Amino acid sequence: MGAFLNPVYAQVLEPATGQIQMAGAARVATAKTVHTTANLNLRSRPSPAGKKLALIPKNTRLTVTSTKSGWSQVRYAGKTGWSSSAYLRAVPKASPKAVKRGDLGKTTAELWLRQQANTGSKALVTLPKNGIYTVKKTSKGFSQIASRGETGWVQSKYLKIVAKKPGREIYIDKKYTSNRDGLTDRFWTKVSTGKLHESVNGKVRIGDIPRNSVVYRNLLMEKTAGSVKGWMFVQTQGMSGWMKTNQLARKSTATTKPVNYSARTVLAQKNGKVAQKMLAAIGWDKEKTLIAAPALKDLNRLNAAFKKKFGRNLDVDLAYRTRATQDAYWVDLGPYIAARPGTSNHGWGTAIDTPETYHYSFRGKYHKWLKMNSKKYNWVHRKILEEGSPYAEAWHFDYVGK
Ligand SMILES: [Zn+2]
Repeated sequence: MGAFLNPVYAQVLEPATGQIQMAGAARVATAKTVHTTANLNLRSRPSPAGKKLALIPKNTRLTVTSTKSGWSQVRYAGKTGWSSSAYLRAVPKASPKAVKRGDLGKTTAELWLRQQANTGSKALVTLPKNGIYTVKKTSKGFSQIASRGETGWVQSKYLKIVAKKPGREIYIDKKYTSNRDGLTDRFWTKVSTGKLHESVNGKVRIGDIPRNSVVYRNLLMEKTAGSVKGWMFVQTQGMSGWMKTNQLARKSTATTKPVNYSARTVLAQKNGKVAQKMLAAIGWDKEKTLIAAPALKDLNRLNAAFKKKFGRNLDVDLAYRTRATQDAYWVDLGPYIAARPGTSNHGWGTAIDTPETYHYSFRGKYHKWLKMNSKKYNWVHRKILEEGSPYAEAWHFDYVGK
């Protein structure tokens, strides 16, 4: 009882009545990290009669290692002892973190994507349950996402965060694999179009990915989103989604031989809808990236010269892009980075992007060499993309051969 009478300890509290003890005990039982709500005695035993070991100031953060009838075992100032649970409050667990820009959210229900951040605004498209989307922005309980070329809003409470915003992407030139997320489990699509889904129910298709497009399995995403038999979560050309396992192969079957079509024939195709037979794979590229068949021969020659100079193959990030991929880029990156859908040479497979690594940047040795030498092989870096232009892009080269 001394503690109550000693003026120094006037504010030091012991367990009060049974009621409060129980409440305190209940609170503490489930919490590991707590803070003191008052100056509090640390005692040698779980009893007011236990020897005083220390005085723990109010608002001290402690870890509870054990509890016993209204008392909690904690360690403070190098001493392990017991304090009244009634004056320990659980430190709230970092509450299910709010959705933030850059997070990956999974829809927990079928939803409308709405034009504005309110439930009364115009519905744009439906989103399937278990669809996975990148949050572009947030506003008062709503998250902005994009689906099938539409950008709109959903209530954040229907998004379960499956991955927090990744840190800054790191591009290491030497270890470059063409895959920005460091994924190495590579597959190629066995089917022609439209098999990348926002959810495993297959209701919503993200895009038309041509046959023999490389995709990377993201196992971590599968785990966090909840893996489903017969489906894989994959990333391809800046998009991600679910694909049926039986539509994927371990090898590309695309030809790596120049096929006999003129550039003019390919350019007469609808942008982003080039016939399969007019596309060829870059044979020395790890991803067997697809390109307009008539551009392949000159690219092979350019690569041979590059290899002679630098002792390595040219790195190609992207060449042919379908219309759906272009739409996705447009929505994601905007007009200064992405070309207006239907206008880019990527849509005919007559453009390549090198990686955005240092050596391929304006100051880099690969870019400088390519800019000087690619013309000989009918590949050019256009003036509008030069440094200083609002469209500056070191990595884009166009094919200008016949
Ligand atoms: Zn490009």
